[in-house]
Amino acid sequence: MIREESTRHDCVGCGYCCIRHACTYGLYRHPGKPDRRCPELQWNGTRYICRLMVEPGGMSYFIRDQLQAGLGCRSYCNPWRAEVRERTAEEEKALFDR
Ligand code: SF4
Ligand code: SF4
Repeated sequence: MIREESTRHDCVGCGYCCIRHACTYGLYRHPGKPDRRCPELQWNGTRYICRLMVEPGGMSYFIRDQLQAGLGCRSYCNPWRAEVRERTAEEEKALFDR
């Protein structure tokens, strides 16, 4: 389904979606570790980024396309969007435990 532009919420890099549920590509790259934070998610000092999506020479274009990067945030009501910062291990664990 294509959402209307007026309802789109751009990604602000809060990390909530990836920390709550690693995607298929993160799980494939790091098999056997579905219960923890995706190692591809990195804090760059301003926001979280996915290393697989920016990896030179890798499958970055394919992964960005498959995960619809740039088409807006689907977790736009999540509480982390309003405060983008590097999260503590305790905050991440609380998200896993939900
Ligand atoms: S929850 Fe939304 S704003 Fe936060 S990283 Fe994911 S897509 Fe971006
Ligand atoms: S591979 Fe990238 S998009 Fe997927 S969960 Fe990890 S950081 Fe998020």
